[in-house]
Amino acid sequence: MLTNHPMIDVGIAVIVSHFDLDDPADVTKEQLKEFAQYLEKTYSSPYFHSFLSVLFPNSAYVNPTMKEERKREALDEVLYGFLKDEEGSNGTCSFCGQPSHFRAFRQHVPLLTGEGLINFFPSRRTGLEICPYCLLAVQAFPLGSLKISGQAFFVHADDFNVTIELAHRFKLMNEQNALLKEAKASPDMKYPKTQFIRQFLEVDRFLKYEEPEGSVTIYHLTNYGTNADISMYHLPVQILSFVYDMKSAAFYQTWQQMAHDAWGVPSKKGKKGEKGTQSFNLPNRLYEDLFDLPAGYASFIRTHLVEGAIRRYKSLLNGKEKDILHYWEIGKHLMKEVVQVREEKIEEIKQMADRLVEYLLKTDDHHFFQRFYHLRNRNKYVEYEELRNLFIKANNHAIRHGANLDQSWELPITFDQFINVFEQWEDPYEGNWQVGRDLILIRMMEQLYEKKWFTRHREILKESEPEEDENQLEKEEA
Ligand SMILES: [Zn+2]
Repeated sequence: MLTNHPMIDVGIAVIVSHFDLDDPADVTKEQLKEFAQYLEKTYSSPYFHSFLSVLFPNSAYVNPTMKEERKREALDEVLYGFLKDEEGSNGTCSFCGQPSHFRAFRQHVPLLTGEGLINFFPSRRTGLEICPYCLLAVQAFPLGSLKISGQAFFVHADDFNVTIELAHRFKLMNEQNALLKEAKASPDMKYPKTQFIRQFLEVDRFLKYEEPEGSVTIYHLTNYGTNADISMYHLPVQILSFVYDMKSAAFYQTWQQMAHDAWGVPSKKGKKGEKGTQSFNLPNRLYEDLFDLPAGYASFIRTHLVEGAIRRYKSLLNGKEKDILHYWEIGKHLMKEVVQVREEKIEEIKQMADRLVEYLLKTDDHHFFQRFYHLRNRNKYVEYEELRNLFIKANNHAIRHGANLDQSWELPITFDQFINVFEQWEDPYEGNWQVGRDLILIRMMEQLYEKKWFTRHREILKESEPEEDENQLEKEEA
């Protein structure tokens, strides 16, 4: 029976997946016995000896001083308790409400107190009541967890299919580790958030199901010595669903490219990782930053979409890559699904970018593009003013250019558009004009590239800012 307790539910998922079932209710008592025997054997490997000493310190699995007889007794208690027919019941299981005859301490269930400590228990009764089924499930959860930075990492999702799939995946990896002669030979994994997204994206079996429902929580815990600790990372449903959507054909290749760019980004200490290598012990900035969404969306767009797109266009201009670029589409999807900005707003941003592109194609005002492009590196207190000036100049330029050619001319920016795109951000995450500017830049670059404008202005994406030359601009406008 599922309990909504992460350790127990992951343990149940491990047992269910061991017999290739979907529903915990289908597991028989015979199968439970078979599984307990399997677990006992697997846990006696060097890899699990090291892993379990962190999760169940002083337990029968890892305590070298425990006498053989006492060890057998302890294993029977935690793994095979469900085979005993106990008379009456002392209490009820704290997790599922079934009769319980056992009180658990930290060597049986991680993060509880040790024997003899009366803190946090009522009526001086120590230990936590737990039934043999839940106890077996707790014993099973490490098999469905990964050892990351020496701690257990496991995933508990609202959608039990997701919990099963990941527990199953981690179980297969652990079964390989259990075959190793030395615990040290197993891969040294770090960065739980990165590992989660990686695994989540790689699980193809999800495609069998509908899109996952609900959110997930990732746990990273140790029960070791005096440093017992737990970290939890929550990924709400809209972000999980966004990541899931990235597997669709429309986004997949661009997303892969973004992920590739984000491996091994230099750490804060300035130590450089190996760029572009997918290692077990490097963080992926893209994956890590997903956990800061939706609140951190502005910086997400800047780091992964704007800078990513710029990098791509630069290499495209050098003829290095094929043009598979859906940065704008991903940005749009993010704004709609994760930030939940109203659709008209996104449409307004797109329209403004398209009008600016039209303006550039007609006037070839590369100074405008260059200045707009470099605004992203300026001090944020002065750049808004620059942005406004830039648009006023563009409008002036358009009017003069249009007048010269004696044709009716639509202004690149109207007052209403400016207000709608840069001023009126009604999202709850303090969106501002910089997000508008970044999204416009992404869309403009995409359009300009498609219309081959960059091939006429190859130098334009250079990082050094052009010298401010007001005179030249005035001359052009005159
Ligand atoms: Zn129970």
